[in-house]
Parts: sequence; structure tokens; C-alpha cells
Amino acid sequence: MIFRQRPEKFELVLLHYLHARMEFSYEEGVTYTNLVKGYEGELKSDGWLRGLTDEWLVLNDLLLEYNGSKFQIDTLIIAYERIYLLDVKNFEGDHSIKEDKWYTPAGKPEKNPLHQLERCETLLRRLLHDLGFHFPIESYLIFINPEFHLYTTSIHPAIIFPTQLNRFLKKLNTRPVKLNKKHYQLAQQLVDHHQEESPYTRLPEYSYEKLKKGITCPKHCKTFFLDESLICKECRDVEAVEAAVLRSVKEFTLLFPDKKITTTDIYDWCGGIKSKKAIRRILSKHFKLVGHRTSAHYV
Ligand SMILES: [Zn+2]
Repeated sequence: MIFRQRPEKFELVLLHYLHARMEFSYEEGVTYTNLVKGYEGELKSDGWLRGLTDEWLVLNDLLLEYNGSKFQIDTLIIAYERIYLLDVKNFEGDHSIKEDKWYTPAGKPEKNPLHQLERCETLLRRLLHDLGFHFPIESYLIFINPEFHLYTTSIHPAIIFPTQLNRFLKKLNTRPVKLNKKHYQLAQQLVDHHQEESPYTRLPEYSYEKLKKGITCPKHCKTFFLDESLICKECRDVEAVEAAVLRSVKEFTLLFPDKKITTTDIYDWCGGIKSKKAIRRILSKHFKLVGHRTSAHYV
């Protein structure tokens, strides 16, 4: 049973908006791509875990803290007699390990994910201990991408390769015993300890003035509509005016939570592609006008 659903990554939503409207530096681009790939991997892993017995409790995407140290858990499974800690990796290509160091397919050093996993397990064990739970923890690195390979001379029991995913699930599904109240209490306590992180802290620096104005295609291409027909020149998708303007208002308010919604600002944000009259009509239909003259804005 899914006890905690994986939430939509709000930080990624904001990054998609920004990516369409500004140039990312090389590092910002890498961070963005990694986040997108990581999230895709987590969703793929969630799909794979649908094959899990309903008896176990699954908690996704927890940000916990022990003694001032934060740690993030992709998936935690509470089974009858133990807890499984899964760190999902969407790595692709031929990675390698030489003398305990990990290397990317390009031969560049990368963070050893086994070390991250150990850290996470240690902190979780301490937290559980403080909460009064003493279940053994088994931690695994789940490599979800079938295009992943690891050159290594040793056996790493904590690593689950794509070809082992089915067998691993079978192992988890053996001996399903009904959970008791204590397991549910633990699940609830962990959810209560989850911390929300502001999605704004790690975004690239941006300002209203520097972002490209206009209405982007709602489809994956994110191309800007060129004229008021709202037909995408890339994917030929057409969007109704009202939907397009409301979507742009949502983008505007999420990127600039402190800014007020006014006809002039939304007109500008949409790149002047629709008349002020049209914008005003849509805003007054869906929002309430407060204040008057220069302070008038929609809520
Ligand atoms: Zn498009």
C-alpha cells in the first residue's frame, strides 16, 4: 500500500518554466538535466514497485533530519520484520568502479552512491532508534535504467542492476505477513517528520526583466507561440486563448509569488500576443478585482 505518494516536484515545474524563458549556464543546465533524469527514474521505479505486495507500506520522497543532518529518501518500504531503504538511480551508459571510486562513462570521477546510501542508512537508523523503533534496515541502490552497466571486479550486494529488478521484487514479496499497529505508527511518524524544502532556494538567479516574455506551447516542446492564432510552429498544437492566458498567469504567480496580477503585467508577460482587452476579460472572469486605479489587481 502506498502510504505516501511521490509529490510532483515543484522545483522541477519552476525549472521547466525558467528553462523556456532564459539561458542556463553550463552548470545550471547539468543540474537541471540531472534533476529531470532523477525524477524520471523515480517515476519508473514507482511503476516497477506497483508489483509489490499490498501488505507492505511504501513511503516516497521523504526529507528527514537527524541531529542537524538532512537526508533524503527516494523510497522506504516498511515490511513485516524489516525496513527497506531504496535509493533510485537513473544512470545510463558504462560506469565503472576503480579502487572504491566511481567514474562516469566519460571517465570523470563521480560521487560514490554507495557512500550516500550508507550515510542515509546511518542517519535513518539513529532517527528510528530515537523514535523507539528497532527494525533492521536493508539498503539498496536501485539502477532502474536498462541502459546502465557497471564495470566492477567485486560483488556489491547493495546494488540492484536492471536485470535483477524482477527477482528483487519477488524476494520482497515472499512471506507477506500482515502488518500491525506499530508498523502504521512508524509510517505516520516518518511522514510527520518529513520536512518541506522551499523550491526556490536552488533555482538559477532570475529576474522578471531578464526573462523572455510570451506564451509557450503547453506541450513538451515549450516553443513560444508566434502570433495570436496560438498555433505551435514546432508541434502544431493549438491552444484556446483562455487556457493559454490562465496557464501564463499560473507561471507568472509561481515564478513571482510577490508580484500582483494586473492586466498590464499579464499583457506584458504574455508578450503582447493578446490584446489588453482580451486579457482583462479573462482575468475578470477567473479572478476578483481588488483595489482601484493604480493599486487595482486580481486575486
Ligand atoms: Zn509545441
